[in-house]
Amino acid sequence: RLYNQVQDLKGSIRVYCRVRPFLPGQSSYISNVDHIDDGSITIGVPSKNGKGRKSFNFNKVFGPSVTQGEVFSDTQQLIRSVLDGYNVCIFAYGQTGSGKTYTMTGPKDLTEQSQGVNYRALGDLFLLAEQRKDTFLYDVSVQMIEIYNEQVRDLLVSDGVHKRLEIRSASQGLTVPDASLVRVASTSDVIDLMNLGQRNRAVSATALNDRSSRSHSCLTVHVQGRDLTSGAILRGCMHLVDLAGSERVDKSEVTGDRLKEAQHINKSLSALGDVISALAQKNAHVPYRNSKLTQLLQDSLGGQAKTLMFVHISPEPDAIGETISTLKFAERVS
Ligand code: ADP
Ligand code: MG
Repeated sequence: RLYNQVQDLKGSIRVYCRVRPFLPGQSSYISNVDHIDDGSITIGVPSKNGKGRKSFNFNKVFGPSVTQGEVFSDTQQLIRSVLDGYNVCIFAYGQTGSGKTYTMTGPKDLTEQSQGVNYRALGDLFLLAEQRKDTFLYDVSVQMIEIYNEQVRDLLVSDGVHKRLEIRSASQGLTVPDASLVRVASTSDVIDLMNLGQRNRAVSATALNDRSSRSHSCLTVHVQGRDLTSGAILRGCMHLVDLAGSERVDKSEVTGDRLKEAQHINKSLSALGDVISALAQKNAHVPYRNSKLTQLLQDSLGGQAKTLMFVHISPEPDAIGETISTLKFAERVS
């Protein structure tokens, strides 16, 4: 039994790497990516004598032409386990502009084809719940919060007032009990809520200051299922996290608020890396307490929970430094 648990844990952290395509107007660039196959990526690295190469291995590597649907099909089985009572965390990591929001939500001009993991995951949950309706009665509710400068805020407020929230040790998976918890019955309910959350995120950003790249946003889906024969209750939850941009800022160039933001992001992303790598190495001590993000997700990282990290890289030559540091981060947690 112990052996099984260890096997489970080992298999419970997955890392997928996704390479963004060049954007319109970037056709003359030469990609940093030298070679991709199913589970590895080779990067051309500038070195003293021309160009070196470095390879990284992951559970999956998605090249620039892989579609949203193809990415999701490798994610789907995780979503299913939420209905079986497991906790799941899905993260999008990468520098600003590398495609995190594209993977999780989609592009600005969203179509059904271009919908990201969030929409597809919820669609799948409702579909499966419907298929199981003769045996289980499911109840689905969502919360949406952001963490900015180590402060937690509710994004599902209708009056635009951002309450500051506390994280509590979880009772039944509700680590932020004071954040709005909204019951949803269909994908379109969820789309409305995500739009509200995105508007609230935008409201708090000043014109010069696009905060969305400097806060973590987390859509949490709570699922409760009642077994219609035994009456037993299963609870699972899924956190879909669009992380703040991982780029390092040059400390000699930023001061004041920007420096403070950068330090908070740096600290929380390293805390996340520390937690996941402690779990991957099965360390006895897992340092959850070092950031709001890891406190928030404590229940859903480790134990029986399942984690998927999408790491994103930009293909442009001038992104090479961030690309390598992103791949190193990813290697450490996998
Ligand atoms: P991030 O959230 O990491 O800052 P975005 O998701 O906003 O990055 O992506 C930056 C730009 O690249 C956006 O215009 C987005 O639509 C586009 N983009 C990102 N990934 C892809 C992709 N896989 N295919 C097509 N366009 C993409
Ligand atoms: Mg984004």
